[in-house]
Amino acid sequence: MKGMKMLLKGKKILITGVANDMSMAWAIAKRAAEQGAEIAMPYGSERVEKRVRPLGESIGAKFIQQCNVQDDAQLDSLFNAIEKEWGHLDGMLHAIAFSNKDELTGRYADTTRENFKNTMDISAYSLVDLTRRSAKLMKKGGSVITLTYFGGEKSIPNYNVMGVAKSALDSSVRYLAADLGVDGVRVNAISAGPIITLASSGVGGFKSILKLNEKMTPLRRNMTLDDVSGAAVYLFSDLASGVTGEIHHVDCGYSSTGMLPNELKDVLLKGLDQE
Ligand code: NAD
Repeated sequence: MKGMKMLLKGKKILITGVANDMSMAWAIAKRAAEQGAEIAMPYGSERVEKRVRPLGESIGAKFIQQCNVQDDAQLDSLFNAIEKEWGHLDGMLHAIAFSNKDELTGRYADTTRENFKNTMDISAYSLVDLTRRSAKLMKKGGSVITLTYFGGEKSIPNYNVMGVAKSALDSSVRYLAADLGVDGVRVNAISAGPIITLASSGVGGFKSILKLNEKMTPLRRNMTLDDVSGAAVYLFSDLASGVTGEIHHVDCGYSSTGMLPNELKDVLLKGLDQE
């Protein structure tokens, strides 16, 4: 907007987790660039490169290189390149999650050891690793954001081991905030409402979650990419200078409710009476 100060002018921000133009990370990268940030935008696998590269180039992003968080050599290469060319970082978005689709349905009790470890490593430990590496470059302080979901606070059907990984992620936010606050590095999570992306379409029955969620939130709608990117700009900006260790819900109020709204309750009760 004309005359308005750009909130992220001159900030150098590393954005992970862009897979395509539906990714929450992409919405955040674009909005941050509009607010004056310079963006580093690696991609997680060869499979997504052809979609990520043109997106990155359209906002003048740098460091469009592969960085699988399970590959230390690729992580070293990314952070060495950023250190050499930029010298420092002001922000980092962690927007990475993965689990075997076959275990995002049915019972959590049937989770395998192998998938438990892999889900935790990619979806939770990667925040610790990326934050430690980023914080070293945040010489004047900085802001780290991760994306989490309510399924880490309460059980959600089919979310299963990903919910347990999100609990670890939420807890890591608090521990990392405690470690890094003395260096002026803030660490927060945005707990986003459900939205269709590559990752979420792997969760069993996701479309029905979306349909119900829309009717259950106080705002009576689902969260949008604009909702999540606006919150991220705020947390990256100096407007949030006193905010750390926080799980900030951007979910149209869903997590603040404890019972179905009356109109849904009536429909459900009518259905039960007919049984
Ligand atoms: P997405 O599929 O666009 O993003 C997930 C990203 O994780 C992809 O870019 C993928 O390449 C990356 N990734 C997976 N394994 C990786 C690895 N080993 N190394 C590096 N990158 C890897 O989907 P999204 O929904 O935008 O997901 C972003 C984050 O938001 C995830 O943490 C997800 O759990 C979280 N989230 C999603 C929703 C939702 O409803 N979509 C809601 C709340 C939170």
